Amino acid sequence: MRRRCPNCGRAPLLAGYLRQVDHCAACGEPFGHIRADDAPPWLTILVVGHVVVPLAVTVESFVTWPVWVATAVWALTALALSAVVLPRAKGVFLAAIWSLRAPGSEMGPETNVGAGSKAG
Ligand SMILES: [Zn+2]
Repeated sequence: MRRRCPNCGRAPLLAGYLRQVDHCAACGEPFGHIRADDAPPWLTILVVGHVVVPLAVTVESFVTWPVWVATAVWALTALALSAVVLPRAKGVFLAAIWSLRAPGSEMGPETNVGAGSKAG
């Protein structure tokens, strides 16, 4: 959630908005091989949907807005909340995959490290 290295907590886990660092700048823990794939957007949609829809239903029962105003307000609210939640959701999944020592990729850990060294 803090978007910091899950190993030491001192350096950022994300190098930009969503791109993860290859290695922690403080402790050197590798993160470049971890693939969160579609999990962060899935969690973002789940969270934002469960916040915005009840909020919209509640507010709309008290306030009568023109349709274009309601559409603009709720669309912008959903977009803004998604922009806040998405990098945090990516951090949650990267940390979870890292803590489970799951490879997080389609290849197993033995093919990630030293691939091709067993050729002989
Ligand atoms: Zn670290």
